[in-house]
Amino acid sequence: MSKKALHERAHKLAERYCVSNGKKFRLKDIDPDDTAWLKEEQKPDAVKALAEGVDALAELQEKLYAQDRWSVLLIFQAMDAAGKDGAIKHVMSGINPQGCQVFSFKAPTSEDLDHDYLWRCMKCLPERGRIGIFNRSYYEETLVVRVHPEYLAKQRLPEELVTKHIWEDRFEDIRNFEKYLTRNGVIVRKFFLHVSKKEQLNRFMSRLDEPSKNWKFSSADAHERGFWDDYMAAYEDLIRHTSTDEAPWYVVPADNKWFTRIVVAAAVIEALSSVDLHYPKVDAAKRKELEEVRKALLETK
Ligand code: ATP
Ligand code: MG
Repeated sequence: MSKKALHERAHKLAERYCVSNGKKFRLKDIDPDDTAWLKEEQKPDAVKALAEGVDALAELQEKLYAQDRWSVLLIFQAMDAAGKDGAIKHVMSGINPQGCQVFSFKAPTSEDLDHDYLWRCMKCLPERGRIGIFNRSYYEETLVVRVHPEYLAKQRLPEELVTKHIWEDRFEDIRNFEKYLTRNGVIVRKFFLHVSKKEQLNRFMSRLDEPSKNWKFSSADAHERGFWDDYMAAYEDLIRHTSTDEAPWYVVPADNKWFTRIVVAAAVIEALSSVDLHYPKVDAAKRKELEEVRKALLETK
């Protein structure tokens, strides 16, 4: 497939799940089992398309690195067992490890809690020329912290700042932060892997049934499942408030892993194609210098 055709296909697929204006967004409009125009029997073609997408990504990433101007921040959020780890692993598989940094954000440490909530994430932002991946992120501050108010209490915020507008305030701060990043050359894209409650149960069951998957199971995950509706409400609200043109959300159907992965790859290709990535241009003086070095090297034969 030509490069142009591949980019067009990526655009078409990514666009379907992109939310850049969240005002009217409703989670129930996205079916976790959706596979767009691709049928289960086309899965082998989809896997091939993913491989082509990964090659295209590797090429774009080389330019990103060489040009050393832009950077990319990819944020992944999801319920447990939605396939964050697998999506990250597959989509980034062809990329030079030196150009990519992955950070996982778990429950905050006491040092983290001694700071504002963006602090620990700011320290992990990608350097210029790199792709940074956040496996969970500051969005947890409007998810798990909202669903379990005891986490908010642990943050020791001054009492008068904990108002009923706190979530709206956080959304505003996050929107501003992402705008700030964009204005500094960071391309921000966010992914919510949308798995159904039924499929999560299937995946938990196979983690319990298959010994090689036992390590992935945690009883805490089963406990969080009990708060499913609260999480869905929190996700819908955050997507409504933090989807912007510069930092859109992709709400990716996640009941079929093969499909999730091609949508994520498509969106990352789209993100990298949204700016003019090119190898640094060699000017006349530099070309002259290279010519002289070539001559000098040949004389050492
Ligand atoms: P996996 O289970 O696949 O290894 P994970 O991302 O689920 O990956 P866990 O070790 O389960 O990793 O830890 C993540 C937990 O940390 C989640 O339950 C998440 O809600 C919690 N967490 C993340 N950020 C915060 C936060 N700011 N405050 C409180 N809890 C948080
Ligand atoms: Mg977990």
